[in-house]
Amino acid sequence: METNPIIVASGKITDQIYHIDVQAYAVKHVVSTFVLETPEAILLLDTGTSDDVKNILRFLKKQGIPLQRIKYIVPSHYHFDHFGGGWKLWNILKESNPSVKVITTQKTHDQLQDTALHMQRAARTFGELGVGEMHPLPEEAYEIIDPDTILPIPGLKPGQEFKLIYTPGHTGDHCSPTLLENGYAKFMFAAEAAGTLFHSTRLITFGTSMPPEYNTETYIKSLRKLIDLEPEAIGYCHFGAVMGKENVKTVLQENLEYTTFFRDFVKKHYEESGSVRHVVEVYLKEEAAKRSDRLIGDLLSKILVALVYGQLIDLGLKEPK
Ligand SMILES: [Zn+2]
Repeated sequence: METNPIIVASGKITDQIYHIDVQAYAVKHVVSTFVLETPEAILLLDTGTSDDVKNILRFLKKQGIPLQRIKYIVPSHYHFDHFGGGWKLWNILKESNPSVKVITTQKTHDQLQDTALHMQRAARTFGELGVGEMHPLPEEAYEIIDPDTILPIPGLKPGQEFKLIYTPGHTGDHCSPTLLENGYAKFMFAAEAAGTLFHSTRLITFGTSMPPEYNTETYIKSLRKLIDLEPEAIGYCHFGAVMGKENVKTVLQENLEYTTFFRDFVKKHYEESGSVRHVVEVYLKEEAAKRSDRLIGDLLSKILVALVYGQLIDLGLKEPK
């Protein structure tokens, strides 16, 4: 019997990794975060929004993970829906472990310390869903590292290393926190460097062409970098995880093809109409249904408007607002 390669439930997904559905916007199956556990350290990979932090704490409690074991909080990138809760979680965790750090690159640090414009844009697009709050942290909260270098995580198995693989494209600061074993990815939190997955059984993706930073060329380069690491399992920001080397290869390849398909689709339908609304309507009619069996209605439309808009900026057909 074939088992479904896609995991959407919260829980332990490998002997070292947990998946958490943070239930962003109080909706299931929209935003994922992950936990890496070794016998000596716990790392939280992303946090969701500041409103989602309580759901992470509830999950950790349910799994019997004591807060004082959490050594690092690791952002994939600065966006509100992925690390909007970082400041809040750090403040809570430091009560149990005064040496807990947000470990990240200089680029992401700089973005996280100055989020006013990002939150303005977020509120404009996703406002009524609730985008939470973002606040800067004291500098002592951070440990700054270079991307693509080895992070010393105590308790990893022989041959294992942990790195923030630099994968710009969705944003300029984007990294994919990755557990490597003998040079290959044992588990990769692709985050938003490999599209989004809103289907519960089919390995079929959407893109992450959010305004204003999306860049198709660097995105494709980053995605190829991930493919070369031959991951055994990958995690998405949106949503869940895909297990098994062959399945991961399939879904990464599918997103690579989708990336140029979507760019050409947006270009064609925008040029024939000059209207973002028109592009979204054609997409909803021709593409959306086969790509998702759970993302519907208003949230889907909002996301699509943003994805089309971001792609148009990259194509030079729109200016960032
Ligand atoms: Zn993002």
